[in-house]
Amino acid sequence: MPELPEVEIVARRLEQALRGATIDSALAPGINALKTYDPPLSALAGLRIAGVGRRGKNLVVRVEGGGGGGEAPSSGEGAEAAVGELALLIHLMSAGRLQLYDKPAGPRDRTSRLLLRLRDGRELRLREFGSKQAAWVKLLPAAQVERDEAVAKLGPEAWPDPPAPAALGRLLRAPRPLHGLLRDQRIIAGIGRSWVDEILWEAQLSPFKRGADLEEQELERLRAAIVRVLGGAIKHYEEVVSLPVPDKLPMPLRVHRHEGQPCPRCGATLEAVHFEDYTIAYCPPCQTDGRVLKDRRLSRLLK
Ligand SMILES: [Zn+2]
Repeated sequence: MPELPEVEIVARRLEQALRGATIDSALAPGINALKTYDPPLSALAGLRIAGVGRRGKNLVVRVEGGGGGGEAPSSGEGAEAAVGELALLIHLMSAGRLQLYDKPAGPRDRTSRLLLRLRDGRELRLREFGSKQAAWVKLLPAAQVERDEAVAKLGPEAWPDPPAPAALGRLLRAPRPLHGLLRDQRIIAGIGRSWVDEILWEAQLSPFKRGADLEEQELERLRAAIVRVLGGAIKHYEEVVSLPVPDKLPMPLRVHRHEGQPCPRCGATLEAVHFEDYTIAYCPPCQTDGRVLKDRRLSRLLK
């Protein structure tokens, strides 16, 4: 699942490539990923892409009226479109990708959930791989994005400026393991199953320590680790990712998915706890006072 650093680099690359491009038409083929109907997708025809941004793990494509050389925006039934900016709010979920292509998709393409055809012949495509169809799109007046339930319920952004240690402590003050708390988008937005392992390793905190038990110094370490790990990943992507953004980004992970390998800090073997659909990787000497927690029933008993 793309997390904050992956969504951020996609937004930056698309912003550079798409700003100012005029939309020719928009389509949501197949099973409907489009979760809104007013304004209709047809309201996008003739409008211009004003920018691409990120909110939590969501992408926001902002669209504005007036196609440049005096073209009137196509109003369709969406008279609102002519009044203010629109925005496409997109969640990639686990297997969605938003990618820019030089040519329109062929008729046999079954992965596309949303197609934005541009006047210059390029096409922005929301594609989704695998059997689940979970990625979604909403077309909203731009002013409503922050009020949409998917955005309004998000906690503060994890990057670039997460809450100061005291405020972070208040957000995390719950009798739940840190690993789950940090992935809870209502508490803090942008962190998922990959980067949480890196952050906790960087902060030298146990994934099973309860949020309510964090001490001041630990909160300081945690906040610094969030900034360093997410910022470091974005910096890495800035150096290695160019358009077209690959389906799989070269994630600079050091701990997650590295169980069985030596800890980059102390050299001990990294361990993992396996859950049904994800794995927690950690270093026992660095994070759990040397305790190896392989079994999730056992891990529940330990902080
Ligand atoms: Zn270690």
